[in-house]
Amino acid sequence: MKIQNNYNLSKLNTFGILAKAKFFVEINNETDLKELFDIGEFKNNEKLFLGGGSNVLFTKDFDGLVIFNKLKGIEILKEDSKNVLIKSMGGEMWHDIVIFSVERNLWGIENLAFVPGTVGAAPIQNIGAYGVELKDTLENVEVFDIETGEKKVLDKEECKFGYRDSVFKNELKGKYFITAITLKLSKTPARQLAGGENKKKIYPALEKYLVENKIEIKNSKDISDAVTAIRKSKLPNPEVIPNAGSFFKNVFVKEIEFKKLQKTYPNIPFFKENGEIKIPSGWLIEQCGPANGTSWKGYRLGNVGVHDKQALVLVNYGGATGEKVLNLANKIIANVKEKFGLKLTPEVNLI
Ligand SMILES: Cc1cc2nc3c(=O)[nH]c(=O)nc-3n(C[C@H](O)[C@H](O)[C@H](O)COP(=O)(O)OP(=O)(O)OC[C@H]3O[C@@H](n4cnc5c(N)ncnc54)[C@H](O)[C@@H]3O)c2cc1C
Repeated sequence: MKIQNNYNLSKLNTFGILAKAKFFVEINNETDLKELFDIGEFKNNEKLFLGGGSNVLFTKDFDGLVIFNKLKGIEILKEDSKNVLIKSMGGEMWHDIVIFSVERNLWGIENLAFVPGTVGAAPIQNIGAYGVELKDTLENVEVFDIETGEKKVLDKEECKFGYRDSVFKNELKGKYFITAITLKLSKTPARQLAGGENKKKIYPALEKYLVENKIEIKNSKDISDAVTAIRKSKLPNPEVIPNAGSFFKNVFVKEIEFKKLQKTYPNIPFFKENGEIKIPSGWLIEQCGPANGTSWKGYRLGNVGVHDKQALVLVNYGGATGEKVLNLANKIIANVKEKFGLKLTPEVNLI
């Protein structure tokens, strides 16, 4: 285990922001973690855990120790006639565990195919896509307590999952390093088999793609392949145009508030979810712009901008600072607040 100084993080965040860490260490196994606990750079500095860097915006250099998760390994813990328990170490890439699962025709995480980043970061914001969230299959999360050096296991309830939210973003923020997670996957399709009784539960955008492309679902890989294809066509590839996916969360409002908005904006799109109304933030951003009659969608100022196909995604056209991206985000937040009275919240972790 080697502590490095003044470490360049530009290749370790998908926004491609040039930021430096005062100290940097890569964790390859649990022995590294135990050793780390005793050294001065760990004890005396602020710490930041880093996985794939696909949900962070460095707004300045990090004046502390970056702990880079490279813990590897995926194993089947238990299997019965219905379910399979899979444990994955936190430094595995999330999409690899999806592949591991669909190769065995297991069901539960196929809709989460191609979400970038590591397994260890997936519980932080309870990753979600196409109507499925991590919490739907998660059994437990293994963590390393950075104050005591103890290992702990948190069950699903203790993680307090919500929409792009968990205990790790709130009361336990920065306190636990996630070393592994265990998922309970199903041997039978819970919802997606075409023609099955639960067919109606297929997420609309996915259903549309399946119908248009005449795809009949025979196994979970068919779903993960379809999701991957849709995602590749819709979202900018960070390797080509650096970005961190959706910069903002969608907005949830009470029905009564929504009705008022609907009177002024009859075309406002919405989804009913868990007793509330979800309004796509991408639509709100598209309706606003830097000047009257313009839209943020496709807007560019120097080397920062809003993607032209997806208004939720802020992009770095090359050489942008995190501060510039944040300035643009703040202008959009103010503009949406002014027009709709709704507050956009960043989904990306601001460092
Ligand atoms: C193109 C694109 C598309 C995306 N699409 C989606 C999507 O559909 N759905 C979705 O939910 N997200 C999406 N994201 C966001 C991102 O993929 C997820 O948030 C992912 O879980 C981040 O993983 P990461 O390893 O890159 O985390 P990082 O960016 O490295 O870290 C994110 C946060 O988690 C903390 N963290 C990281 N690892 C650990 C650990 N082991 N222990 C404790 N804390 C840790 C970090 O300190 C930071 O606060 C997308 C991102 C991109 C770039």
